Amino acid sequence: MYHYVRDDTSRPPYGYYYLDLDDFRAQLDYFESEYGFVEKDNFLRFVRDGEPVSDGVVLTFDDGLIDHYEWVLPELLSRDLWGIFYISTGPLQCNEVLDVHRVHSIIGSVGGKQLLDVLEDIITEEMIPDRKINEFRKNTYQKQDSTESISEAKRILNYFISYSYRSDVIDEVEKRFPESQAVVSELYMSEDQISELYNSGMIIGSHTVSHKVLSKLNKPDQMSEIYNSFDYLGKVVDGLSCLTFCYPYGGEHTYNDMTLDLLERYGCEWSFDVRSADVTNAELDAIYTLPRYDSCEFAHGSATFRILRTIVGSFLSRRPIVTADKGNLHLPNRGRIFPLQNHLPKIFTNCH
Ligand SMILES: [Zn+2]
Repeated sequence: MYHYVRDDTSRPPYGYYYLDLDDFRAQLDYFESEYGFVEKDNFLRFVRDGEPVSDGVVLTFDDGLIDHYEWVLPELLSRDLWGIFYISTGPLQCNEVLDVHRVHSIIGSVGGKQLLDVLEDIITEEMIPDRKINEFRKNTYQKQDSTESISEAKRILNYFISYSYRSDVIDEVEKRFPESQAVVSELYMSEDQISELYNSGMIIGSHTVSHKVLSKLNKPDQMSEIYNSFDYLGKVVDGLSCLTFCYPYGGEHTYNDMTLDLLERYGCEWSFDVRSADVTNAELDAIYTLPRYDSCEFAHGSATFRILRTIVGSFLSRRPIVTADKGNLHLPNRGRIFPLQNHLPKIFTNCH
C-alpha cells in the first residue's frame, strides 16, 4: 500500500510523509528480487475463484493522488507491472480538496505543533461527541513538533471531532496558514488521467467519495459514499472490469457489518483493510477484509517528512488556553471565534 510517492515537494502537501521516488524504485527492485510480482490475471483468478497462485507482490495505491499518474505510472509501465489504484471521487465530483488531504497540507506546511496550537484555540468540547470526550481530554497539547504532535492533530481531526464541525474547523485553520491551501489539480489525478491508468492495464477501485471513517456514518451516508464512488468511476472509465474497494484509514474500527453488507449488495468482489498479513487462501473466506502491508514495512519504504515552514506568523497569543488539572482539561468559556455554519453532511450526487 502506497500513498504519496514523489521526487518533488513543491506542491501540496509539500513535505508531508512521502516515499521518495528513488526509494520507490529501490523497493520495486527489492520486491522483484525477493518475492517477484503476481500477474494481474493470476491475481484475479485467485480472488475470484481461489485458483492457486505463486507467491508474489501486488501493489496498491490509495487516494487518487496525482503522484500516481506523474511518477508511479511511468515507473510501473517501464517495468511491465500493474497496480490497483483506489480513488476517492469527491475531489473530482465537487472540485474540493478532501479534509484528510487539507490536513496533510497544513502539517506539511507548518508541522504538527503549530496545527495543535491552532486547534487548541478553536476546538471546544461541544465539537467532540460524548463518547470521544475522555480520549480527547487525555491530551494536553504540550508536545513539540514530532511524530506524536502530528499523530495527535490527525487523531483530533480524523477521529475525535464531529463531522458537523470538521470542515469549518479546517477552514479556520487554513485562514491562519493561507499558504497551506491546496487546489484539486495540485493533489489529484483528473478523470482523463484515471482513464489513462485504466487503459494502461491498471485496476481502478473505489475508496469512497469523501474519505470519511465509514463506521461513523449511518446507513444512507455509507451507501452514498460507496455506491456513488463506484458509479462515478464506472462512468470515468466507461465501465469497471472489476469492482474492488478499500476502506479509508482502513483499521477494523473504521468499518462495520453494515459496510460489508453494502459492499456485497453492490457486487463488490473484494476489499482491502490495513491488517499487516499475507493474502492466503484462508483469507479469501473474508473477501471484504483482505489484509495489506504498508510499504514502510519493507526495505526502502521509510517515508520522508519535511516541513515547508514558510508561514510562521505571530497569529496566536501565547497564553496557555488549555490547562491540565488533576487529569482534567479546562477549556476557557469563550465565545466562538468564527461563525459555525451548521454544516449538513455533504451529498455528493449534487455536490452540496
Ligand atoms: Zn486513503
